[in-house]
Amino acid sequence: MSLSRRIKKYATDLGFDLVGIAPVQTMPELNFYKDWLAAGYAGEMKYLERNIEKKCDVTQVVPEAKSVVVCAKIYHTDHPLSITQKDPERGWISRYSWGDDYHDLIKKQLFELSEFVENESPQPFYSRAYTDTGPIVDRIYAKYAGIGWFGKNTCIINQQIGSWFFLGEVLTNIELEYDEPVPDRCGTCTRCIEACPTDAILEPYILDATKCISYLTIELKDDIPVELREGIGNHVFGCDICQDVCPWNSKAATTEDSAYQPRMGLVNPGFDEMINLSPEEFSQKFRKSPIKRSKYKGFMRNVLIAIGNSAQTKFLPILEGLCENEEPIISRHASWAFDKLSKKK
Ligand code: SF4
Repeated sequence: MSLSRRIKKYATDLGFDLVGIAPVQTMPELNFYKDWLAAGYAGEMKYLERNIEKKCDVTQVVPEAKSVVVCAKIYHTDHPLSITQKDPERGWISRYSWGDDYHDLIKKQLFELSEFVENESPQPFYSRAYTDTGPIVDRIYAKYAGIGWFGKNTCIINQQIGSWFFLGEVLTNIELEYDEPVPDRCGTCTRCIEACPTDAILEPYILDATKCISYLTIELKDDIPVELREGIGNHVFGCDICQDVCPWNSKAATTEDSAYQPRMGLVNPGFDEMINLSPEEFSQKFRKSPIKRSKYKGFMRNVLIAIGNSAQTKFLPILEGLCENEEPIISRHASWAFDKLSKKK
């Protein structure tokens, strides 16, 4: 069995659901990525701009780099989609964050994969592993590794398993057998573009992250622009809509992996519980969870917007109290929610 095939088999044995290999080469999409950043669509995600030249040419980081092994891990579990949940007293947390923080889990598996290649490689071996970090623009390499096509919603979509998966990469100095990109199967479909409540998909394949609910509720640290608050609906951390409506996810594969099963109460959580969380309870509840990224202030800001959008006037008393909260971002969003719900009376 060739080294490439042994690497793929080992990665699958480690628990990855898809594995592909891309060559390190110039890719036109990397220039598109630069243009996208220059247009300001990344908002405050300045880390995406960091080392942009290196991201567009990984040999500036690792001169001897030849191949990128791209691994995908399904996080989808057998639970309802956000678009089927209609209880006005409940919010939505993006399904990727229901389980443990994937960064640590995937990194560990990638290190094991690197170790395996090192032992198997006939030549001196060099590698680096990345998950959402480093100089690899993961979706572009995933495309060239044949993991899936770049959908109009900007997710990588695989014909067999859909798009609910994480990506991780091992960059190596070894030449391997390369996979081919797969054809774009979005066709004439525009469901994701039409379904986005904040019109964040400006046109096929171009996402303005500054309007995306995931960016607004996770990455943005300040006030959420007033004109986008209504579109956020009941989302309190991330958003799944453009993937929920994608026909390629209608029979998406699920995982039984215990690390990615939802923690108690995270599927369609009640506003009652979330609005009463203290900073200490937040830290405890979301220890080793992707949700800790929003921090307490950001999470409460999101919950307040979702409550403001709920039309549930029973929350008015608690909102009134939070208008006086010592944390300005909380008090400002509580005032907005209070005013909005007051008009429903
Ligand atoms: Fe492509 Fe349709 Fe899926 Fe959007 S919803 S990513 S257009 S297949």
